[in-house]
Amino acid sequence: MAAGVRLVVLGKQGAGKGTQCVRLSHRYAVPHISTGDMLRAAVRAQTPLGIEAASLMTTGELLPDELIIRMVSERLSERDARSRGFVLDGFPRTVVQAEMLEEILNESHKLHCVVNLEVPTDEVLQRLVSRRTCVDCGGIYSTASPPIQGWTCDTCGGEVIQRPDDTAEAIMTRLQAYERETLPLIDFYSSRGLLETIDGSKAPDDVLRSTVDAVERRKREME
Ligand code: AMP
Repeated sequence: MAAGVRLVVLGKQGAGKGTQCVRLSHRYAVPHISTGDMLRAAVRAQTPLGIEAASLMTTGELLPDELIIRMVSERLSERDARSRGFVLDGFPRTVVQAEMLEEILNESHKLHCVVNLEVPTDEVLQRLVSRRTCVDCGGIYSTASPPIQGWTCDTCGGEVIQRPDDTAEAIMTRLQAYERETLPLIDFYSSRGLLETIDGSKAPDDVLRSTVDAVERRKREME
């Protein structure tokens, strides 16, 4: 079995984090931990967390740090993540979350690196308005490359829809939240020597190849 990895993937909404994180989690046989997917599952299941999260998510606002940190630290304490690692998608999203992640991971489970997928804003806007998402597995499609059979997911058979926060208004709110809260993480991780910037506007296979090259180099350096 491939050796594991501990990775954070950053990038604007629509930069391709979901697609790349799924592939990276398969490549390294580690869980793909997406806070957005976890929250959408909670909203669908109408759990207390889901009920609390739903309206903020629809408008594109961030949820409170404490709530997200509790959810992620529980998931990271599970055996698969502790023993093999993880690909974190959509977390951390604020400096407070990044500081908490450092505490949770402590010295023995440090991140191998933080991948920043860089894509210009006009390109992510185009990707987001045409994006369609599987409600069950989070699989990503677009109006230009839909599933094979109607709007049914090729992977799990789930319904493929336009996310309620992929509307023009919510997209603007989400991009503003990214600039305000998440962009400072670039400096945060750069100052710790962990940042790897990857050109996310290339084809998905090329982005994956560059990312894996960077991660492998980091892993060799840490051995
Ligand atoms: P995503 O699928 O990662 O774009 O997340 C969808 C929505 O879930 C976001 O717009 C936020 O409302 C919420 N969310 C996901 N991850 C976080 C996080 N780390 N911190 C705060 N809110 C989050």
